[in-house]
Amino acid sequence: MTLPLAGVRPSAAHADERTPASTATDGSGGLRTGSTTPDAATSPPAPPASGSAGGTAPEAPARVPATITRFALTARTWKKGAAAPQVQVRIDARRATAARVQLRIEDRATHKLLFRQSFGTVRSGVDVARHVTARLAAKPGSYRLRLVVKDATGQRARRKGVPVAWGLRVTTPAETAATVPTATPTATGSYVFPVQGRCNFRSVQAQRFHAGRSGGRLHNGQDIGTYDGFPPVVAVTAGTISRVWYDDFGGGWTLVIDGDDRMAYGYLHLKAGSILVKAGQRVTPGQRVANAGNTGGDYEPHLHFEMRPIPWDANRDRAVDPLPFLSKLPNPCDG
Ligand SMILES: [Zn+2]
Repeated sequence: MTLPLAGVRPSAAHADERTPASTATDGSGGLRTGSTTPDAATSPPAPPASGSAGGTAPEAPARVPATITRFALTARTWKKGAAAPQVQVRIDARRATAARVQLRIEDRATHKLLFRQSFGTVRSGVDVARHVTARLAAKPGSYRLRLVVKDATGQRARRKGVPVAWGLRVTTPAETAATVPTATPTATGSYVFPVQGRCNFRSVQAQRFHAGRSGGRLHNGQDIGTYDGFPPVVAVTAGTISRVWYDDFGGGWTLVIDGDDRMAYGYLHLKAGSILVKAGQRVTPGQRVANAGNTGGDYEPHLHFEMRPIPWDANRDRAVDPLPFLSKLPNPCDG
């Protein structure tokens, strides 16, 4: 099948979603908390597509068993107004690998599963910390926190010297913690379309948020095809660059803007050498930050644009559909 208007090969879009933007400190490649498809939860991190990424394609994670060597909780109670306790995790293996990590939050008394919180893909040998999901703040009670780690062989990782579970008591609702930003541009002054060049984004179903991907996964953002070009991409709103990195799991060169509106905006597959900003830097709406590209896989050039509440790392599963947002912005796209 060809998608002449897409600017994105279907195969590329698959790889894109299998493992968007995942590294040791990024939560984006995680288990789909809403999914009941066993495939989705058990697939090992996919090897990056090879070929046209300019020789920078990283190694696939080794398919060796992993062991959970750290599972700690920074506080046993979460009081009103306090920062969420952190869960600290580490996996190790005899060769460098990666594993998908999920925190299961159960009722302390009944062990009934209440929430799943994805920690994304975690690399071996790296200490990772995540705040407990803000959703718990709205629900005082006693909880049991348990880790489920699927290693690259598709098996559950063993534990070594770590507890089976931690208890956490949430005392009273923290009224500010659970609000979700909406990022609904009503005036165009404070928001600018991210791609400034020939593009399309409305016309192809496969480019859309939650379009199906291989292994039962869902596309977590909106692709903006750029045909064969590498047009400038700009900050959609005022904010701070929270991170710039090469995502080994299909995202390629990636940056995230923490918007002043409390939405995190992710830009993936950026052209190598084109990124003009650094972590910590302030940006203004419309400020050029990079060029669209095709790093991270065998893609045709496009921008994978993703929106999640801050913090990016912890909120893969709270990503929102960017299409209504993008559709309201004046843009140069022809489809
Ligand atoms: Zn995409």
